[in-house]
Amino acid sequence: MMKKDLIDLIHFSIIPKDDPKQALRIRRLFLASATYLLCFCIAYISYLTGVTEWEVIIGYLIIMPSINIILYIVHRTGLNLKMTDPSMTSVQMCAGILVITYGIYFSSESRGVLLLTYIIVFLFGVFRLNTRSFLYISVFTLLAYGINIALLQIYRPQGVNFNIEYLQWGVLALVLVAFSVIGGYISSLRRNLSISRATIREMAIRDELTGLYNRRHVRELLEHEKNRSLRGGDIFCLAMLDIDHFKNVNDTYGHHAGDAVLKAVATTIKTTMRNTEFCGRYGGEEFLIILPQTDIKGAFIGAERVRTNIENTLFPDIGPDFKITVSIGLSEYKMEKDMDDVIARADEALYRAKKGGRNRVEFAQ
Ligand code: GH3
Ligand code: MG
Ligand code: MG
Repeated sequence: MMKKDLIDLIHFSIIPKDDPKQALRIRRLFLASATYLLCFCIAYISYLTGVTEWEVIIGYLIIMPSINIILYIVHRTGLNLKMTDPSMTSVQMCAGILVITYGIYFSSESRGVLLLTYIIVFLFGVFRLNTRSFLYISVFTLLAYGINIALLQIYRPQGVNFNIEYLQWGVLALVLVAFSVIGGYISSLRRNLSISRATIREMAIRDELTGLYNRRHVRELLEHEKNRSLRGGDIFCLAMLDIDHFKNVNDTYGHHAGDAVLKAVATTIKTTMRNTEFCGRYGGEEFLIILPQTDIKGAFIGAERVRTNIENTLFPDIGPDFKITVSIGLSEYKMEKDMDDVIARADEALYRAKKGGRNRVEFAQ
């Protein structure tokens, strides 16, 4: 044995640690194995009470471990990843159904009640399969049970009431079709839910018009930045940006043009910002930018860049000479407890920028 193989063997873990998805699949496999074990216990009790025959016990002792070992090897070697469904749900369900049908064949009057165990197998598909796959497996189950009836008729007809068997087959068909429709519905519900959970999260933190963070989230980020600063002593600045004479845009060109300007300003801020910086729409035409690890001088340079880029943005859809300008107020975080104080200082600087003639950057003392 090579040294590397030996090391691999020592480090071997029953459930892989490096791949959470595979780990989940193997855990699910163990759940199925536990179910097999329970089924075996039931079969054994049935054998002891004379309801079922010894062939079931011998058969199960060979079949059940084989299925589980093969499936485990397939999963642990990663062979399952080459398949369309790496969870191998359908394969596992079909194996389960065959095992149950084998047991049913050798059980006398208890066949009817054993049909219930098919449902356990179907439950494993509830979060995975769509209605069509469920229907395929239903057909497979009905075929298996049909063959079971045929074999009974040929080899062990004594003591079997075939009218009851046919009735059972019919009821099974009904139950499985119903299960397929409802199971498929549950799976699709789960799929849609997991998509919309991400969408809901995005909707909760974004401003719809500009795609920037909304006021609530930008305040959360501010708190986060404050705590980081209090722990490690990092400085940061914030910039409050307000569009100049924005009311005129709405009044002269309409609300639609106003919205287009808001979007364009947001885009310019985004493209001018550094990766580490955050920006949110703080009010109607007010934006708040957080500049982590930046002193007031650095913030001033950044803010000037944003201001000139917005000033140079063209709006051909509104008019060839149409321009927009912004005023910006800056403040540096000085270990305040309440972020409202820091925002108030930026607001005060912004007010001075407006008073000083707009289209300029001012900073708080
Ligand atoms: P100043 O230079 O002093 O900031 O003047 P201003 O006109 O920009 O300031 P004011 O606060 O008086 O006007 C803000 C306007 O922003 C009022 C409101 O109609 C407009 N506004 C706020 N939110 C939106 C929006 O979502 N879309 C549009 N189109 N306009 C908005
Ligand atoms: Mg305003
Ligand atoms: Mg304004």
